[in-house]
Amino acid sequence: MNTKEILARLLSFDTVSRHSNMELMSFVSQWLQSHGISSRLIPNHDYSKANLYASVGPETGKSPFFGGVMLSGHTDVVPIDGQSWTLPAFDLTEQDGRYYGRGSADMKGFVACALKAMETASTMPLHTPLHLALSYDEEIGCVGVRSLIEHLSNQPVQPNLCIVGEPTLMGVAIRHKGKLAAEATFKGRAGHSALAPHALNAIHLASDFISQLRNLQEALAAPYANGDTTQIPYTTVHAGIINGGTALNIVPDTCTVRFEIRNSADDNAPEILEKIIAGANQLVDVHLARIPEAAVSFEVLNEYPGLSTPEDTWAVRFVQSLTGANDTGEVSFGTEAGLFSSVLSIPSVVCGPGSMDQGHKPDEYVSVDQMDLCEDMLGKLLIKLSQSSPGTP
Ligand SMILES: [Zn+2]
Repeated sequence: MNTKEILARLLSFDTVSRHSNMELMSFVSQWLQSHGISSRLIPNHDYSKANLYASVGPETGKSPFFGGVMLSGHTDVVPIDGQSWTLPAFDLTEQDGRYYGRGSADMKGFVACALKAMETASTMPLHTPLHLALSYDEEIGCVGVRSLIEHLSNQPVQPNLCIVGEPTLMGVAIRHKGKLAAEATFKGRAGHSALAPHALNAIHLASDFISQLRNLQEALAAPYANGDTTQIPYTTVHAGIINGGTALNIVPDTCTVRFEIRNSADDNAPEILEKIIAGANQLVDVHLARIPEAAVSFEVLNEYPGLSTPEDTWAVRFVQSLTGANDTGEVSFGTEAGLFSSVLSIPSVVCGPGSMDQGHKPDEYVSVDQMDLCEDMLGKLLIKLSQSSPGTP
């Protein structure tokens, strides 16, 4: 199978995050097996989804490049609901030098290239191992990869470098923001709206809370007011979902607000959350004498760290040498690179074919040119891994 044929197979599996990815994973593991590469599936609790980890080459590389290079991708894709596709979403269509299909850019295109690289690597005398890490449930907040990270953390040797192939037009991205999503639940006291002052309106509490979030956002952005803010270099805070009230003539006693913090790698999301919680508690405290049941509680729904790989490091220079780039960039979206980097201390970069301008959209595509560039990059990687000294970590 060539890379296009592998991509066609990957696209044919409807791996929208709410569905199982097991058919895709059994295709991948059988395909790897057919090339003599064994892989390990790391399933979720009900075996409906799994991560996959596979390695080619020696168990460990030569000093000082012991752990080798890990290619990382997610297998899930975002839904097509409500999008008007003019081409089949779960089949590959080649047209005008592009491969269309859901996930072609984000990020089955890279996964196809990575699988082909594993096959090629299996025929080469590698001195340094090449690893493949495929995850599930990335699109709902880098959820699935955590058990893969746990698996890796129990291994005696960690990879020296991770390339996460999210679409960057093959640029070398070394930074992205982290995210913390949370829900605040405000409790007031119900009552007839004619007697509203005797009750405590939870929607009003929540509304004051949202004002606090907006003030916090202004404070976080203020230091950047005179700079170029097109890339939004500062941490953002926003409320996305509010729920409260049952009838207009009832003072609501409950209101929930879902909000998120998208923190630049310099800012600490849990610390910002602490400030938000302190502000919310103040809002509630002033009512406690009259309404003792007034309360606010918080639940963190999802959290992943930002990525900030120092530019002047071996890992970055190594990947630059593969792509020919001499600059670095950042991506606006979160990736698993932040987790590999912060939990396992594996130097990580984001570099993959296609653009997120096409990701998550109808008629998503990756250009054939981009796929060729990615294959070139991985080809150079394999040459380096088969040299007795591929570089100095
Ligand atoms: Zn992605």
